[in-house]
Amino acid sequence: LLKSLPRQTWELDHENIEIVRKLGEGAFGEVMMGKLKFRKGGKTVNVAIKQAKLSNLTKDQIKEFMGEARVMRQFNHPHVVRFYGVAATTEPLYMVMELASNGALDSYLKKNPDLSLDKKNEMILQAAWGLEYLHGKPVIHRDIAARNCLYGDNRVKISDFGLTRHGVSYQADPNKKAPIRWLATEVIRQRIFSLKTDVWAYAVMSWEIYNNGVEPYPGMMVAEVAQRVIGGYRMDLPVDLHPEIKNLIGKCWAENEHERPSMADVSSELQRITLIQRPD
Ligand code: ADP
Repeated sequence: LLKSLPRQTWELDHENIEIVRKLGEGAFGEVMMGKLKFRKGGKTVNVAIKQAKLSNLTKDQIKEFMGEARVMRQFNHPHVVRFYGVAATTEPLYMVMELASNGALDSYLKKNPDLSLDKKNEMILQAAWGLEYLHGKPVIHRDIAARNCLYGDNRVKISDFGLTRHGVSYQADPNKKAPIRWLATEVIRQRIFSLKTDVWAYAVMSWEIYNNGVEPYPGMMVAEVAQRVIGGYRMDLPVDLHPEIKNLIGKCWAENEHERPSMADVSSELQRITLIQRPD
């Protein structure tokens, strides 16, 4: 089937991809560091490569892998991980993307517990720019969390688009497992996702950034998290955090989704408070 279709710019050849070493373990298989040679000009760039063997994957996983490639190829933003293409003519499939030199954001935060508050403010602003861009498409990411962002070249980059959906709302299967600690109350109750449930998850991720990558709601089991969050409980933010930032994050996890700001509101508020300007 692939051979009968016209060649797309995002179709890569295995022979132009060189695997160098392992970076980590992903849901579909190993994630490798490697080099991609461009067909035109012969230039080479360092890349990250998600490998997948179709025979090892479930139907749902194949759908997620292909869906991730399809959705990523439309993005072009400094705070969204860049997609180079897919090599799919033979196994294993390769999904090739920008290499983020510092890896997953949660592990970067754990390894660097001495980042300044200013640095963390900058990180949450960068994530806000990336998510604002995605919401402008519009797509709902549906799995915003520090483990699903990468860090490289002093930039937070949003990644992991396996659950991303086009549009502004999405009714998920209520029986599917979901990452409770990052979920808005309407998702916990009814699995209704929207741009505003990404805003909630963004608030939880901001908490992760300020707490050096610690798992949210420490010491609580997921069932307790669900019950307490529905009851109105919210985590504390650092005492020395700028009160306006605290207030802004507080609005992002408001019970009523209409009280939650849009990501465009969040980024413009953060720019005003931190005096950090948007890169062009
Ligand atoms: P999946 O979403 O397929 O489960 P992940 O995206 O979580 O896989 O990747 C697994 C690990 O590989 C990450 O935790 C990170 O350490 C590493 N990794 C993934 N993508 C990149 C990348 N673009 N640059 C650097 N490291 C990456």
